[in-house]
This record gives sequence, structure tokens and C-alpha cells, in this order.
Amino acid sequence: MERRAKIVATIGPASQDEATLEKLFKAGMNVARLNFSHGTHEEHAARIASIRRVSEALDLSVGILLDLQGPKLRVGVLAAPMQLAFDELVRVYCQDDPVPDGEEQKISVTFPELFESVHAGDRLLLDDGRLVLVVVSVKGRILLARVVVGGILTSNKGINLPGVRLRIPGFTEKDEADLAFGLVQGVEAVAISFVRSVQDIIQVRHAIKRLLPANQPRPLVIAKLERPEALDDLDNILDAVDGVMVARGDLGVEVPPERVPIMQKRIIHSANAKAKLVITATQMLESMIVNPLPTRAEASDVANAIFDGTDAIMLSGETAAGKYPVEAVAMMDRIAREAESHFLEWGQPRQRETDGLGETDAAAMARAAYAIARDRDVAGITVFTMHGSTAWLMSKVRAQVPVIAFTSDEHTYRQMSFLWGILPHKIEFVETLRAMIEHVDDHLLETSSFRPGDQVVIICGFPVGALRNPNMALLHTIGE
Ligand code: PEP
Repeated sequence: MERRAKIVATIGPASQDEATLEKLFKAGMNVARLNFSHGTHEEHAARIASIRRVSEALDLSVGILLDLQGPKLRVGVLAAPMQLAFDELVRVYCQDDPVPDGEEQKISVTFPELFESVHAGDRLLLDDGRLVLVVVSVKGRILLARVVVGGILTSNKGINLPGVRLRIPGFTEKDEADLAFGLVQGVEAVAISFVRSVQDIIQVRHAIKRLLPANQPRPLVIAKLERPEALDDLDNILDAVDGVMVARGDLGVEVPPERVPIMQKRIIHSANAKAKLVITATQMLESMIVNPLPTRAEASDVANAIFDGTDAIMLSGETAAGKYPVEAVAMMDRIAREAESHFLEWGQPRQRETDGLGETDAAAMARAAYAIARDRDVAGITVFTMHGSTAWLMSKVRAQVPVIAFTSDEHTYRQMSFLWGILPHKIEFVETLRAMIEHVDDHLLETSSFRPGDQVVIICGFPVGALRNPNMALLHTIGE
């Protein structure tokens, strides 16, 4: 059986050349993530062109996920790496201002709003919490802080301020420019970073409406859940998005690490209950940035995300900048397959597989296909879809047999790369039931898992070719 959960891999300097991309796709990567916290539009355009070229040559459905930087506070550019020692005082200033006087070491930051938002006693966590400063005083746009946990600081590292409400816009000018670029490039999904409430999603949805070029299909909108206050508005956020990401990197800095596993379970459960996509991200195989094998704890983490019910699992530094990008994808693929072969024993079943699908024709047909597949012990389910919504619901039903989704639409073909358990297949537009059944038989018999005489369910709109919502479920015997 094919792997059901999808693998998202971040493309960066360690993986952007076409030879490595080809190996990543062959090892099992389904979605390419581009992190807009790094790189220029020129660099990302070159990556997008390579991803498209290689995936087309291999005839694979691969989606591109554009990850917006969001209102991430960062250290500015440092002349050289800086050693921060325990108990020393440092001066923090805004990178737009002149370097302040004083004997202390100086650290510049990217957002002037920092100085209005923090007070004496607040903590500044640098570089994913590896270094910790405590604010001693704030005067105008200069802040004096004491080092509580020291170490080496380099340029552009992130800054987190747990418990501090930053007075900065959720959707920055840079995000808007990056979004406009991504929409012109036709990316399949956009991730919004540091979402605080549903208002941040509404703002990006408006921007997409305004910036989307005519005739360009809409990308999926994915909220990255990495601020604790987003969890207070989880239901509204889920209603407004196509999917969410459990962004454990920043989440684990914003809240104590021991709360992250519980938040992960809650997010995955809530997303599944509303039939939304959920990606579990960050540090899944972190040690593979430098080692060819993961730790046993990392292998368990990937498997447990599968058992929790995630749709996709994500690699960041492992594939963007690590020494073993291809090995990391291959390892993730192996762990996921092994976990999935034990899902019925150890997985977290949905309360009822068909809950939360809604009351549309597509939902009714997905429920019907699920019931027929279970009652008749069929070998697979096939879906004919133009915009992917039937495939989406079929994915969320978590059928235990392969689901093959046929489409003639290129964007839908690539977007279905995100969907758990869906095997996308590109065909030309079909106009008759006979042509549809021929496609099913030809394609299924090309794969080793189907034989003549196997029964499959076909879900489609009838009359075929009329582009209508699905309204037909057919129990078909291959070859008849
Ligand atoms: C995260 O924080 O877990 C995450 C996915 O975001 P980024 O990699 O952009 O920091």
C-alpha cells in the first residue's frame, strides 16, 4: 500500500539543485515548502521553476507551499557572531537607528514596535530560545537587558517574547509583496505565520482576492499555529482556513515545551473534526541535519504524529540546509509507512470517520463511497474531480483502501499532493461514462495493486462532462 500521510519538505541551499530535487521526489516528498523568511524573489523563482520542471519530468503531483514570514521579530545583521556571557548587560536598538553609545555589546532588531511593547522584567528569547535576555530598562528606542542564558548569537536570528502582546500588524508589507509574487507564480498553498486570531486570516484572504491575477486559481490558506493566543480562537480560525500547521518550533518557544504535545493533539483532533488539513512540523528528524540516522525519539515523534491523525508531516532544516536531505525524506517515508501499517492498533480513530464533512452533495457521496467500500470490501475508491473538493472529503473520511483521484485540471492535480491517502492522477477531460471507466481500468491495471475482477467504487458527477457536483457512486468491477 502507498504511504497515506504526505511529506512536506523545505527546499533551500541543500536541496534546490535539480539532481537533489529528483532524489527527494523519488524518496517520497509530496509538497515543496519555500520559507520566505529567507531568500530573494529571484532565488525562489528559480526554485519554483526547478520544482515544476523536475516534477513534470517525473510525472508527479507536487504542490508548492509558500510560507510567509509574518511579523517575526529578528536580530538585525551583526558584523560578526557575538558571544553573550551570563550576567553581562547588552544594549538592544532598532536597526534603522544609529548605533547607540555605551560600553555594552549592541544588538540591533528589525521591528521598532518592540520598544513600545516590552517592559522591565520581560524575557527576550533569541534563536529559538537558545539564548535568554531579561529587560532591565527601556528608554525610547534603546533597551538595556541582562543575559540570563548566554551563547553565540549570529545575524537574523528570531526573537520571541512569551506573554508579550506585540503591537505590530499580523500581515506585513513584506508578506504582501511575497504573497503577490507567489500568486503570480501559481503556488498551490500559502501559510500565514504567527496567526493570533481569525482577523489575521481575514486580512490575508482579502489580500488574496485583491492580488490574485485573473484566471489564476486560488491557493489553499494554511494558518501556522505558533502563538498561544491562536489556540483561544481555534474554532474560528479553523472555520476560516483550508488547513493549519502545528508549528512546533515557535510554539515550543512561546509556551513551555511540556505543553506542546497536548496542543498538537488538540489541534489535530479539532482540524480533523472540521475536515480541515493539518500539517505537523518542525524538529521531526532534527538530528538528521548533521547525522545520517535519526534518534529513536525522533522516529517515535513522526510515528506519533501519524497516530494522532495528522495529514502531513514536515521537514525544515533537515532538507533546506542539512547534510542528509534525501536520507531524511526516505527515513520519514519509512517511519510513516511502518506506523500506518499499525494505525488500526495504535492510531487515534476519528469519533466517526464521516463526521464533520458538512451537508453538501460531495460530502454525501464521500460518505456513500466510504460505506460501500466497507460493506463490499472493495480494492479501492476512484474519484473524478475538477476542483478537488470530493477528493478532499474522501481524504478526511480516512478510507482504509487506496483512493485514486482523477482530474484534468493541473492546479487541482498539484493541490491534491497535500491530501492524506489520495493518489492524484492527471487525465484529459472526459465526457462519457465509457471513457471514464476506461481510464479507471487502464490506470488501475497499470499499478501492481489491482487485478481484473477487483471491485472499486467510482464517484463522479453525472452527466459526465457536465462539470456538476458529484451525484453518482458506481460499484465497478475492473475489466467488465
Ligand atoms: C515553526 O515555528 O515550527 C515553523 C514551522 O515556522 P518557521 O520554520 O517559519 O519558523
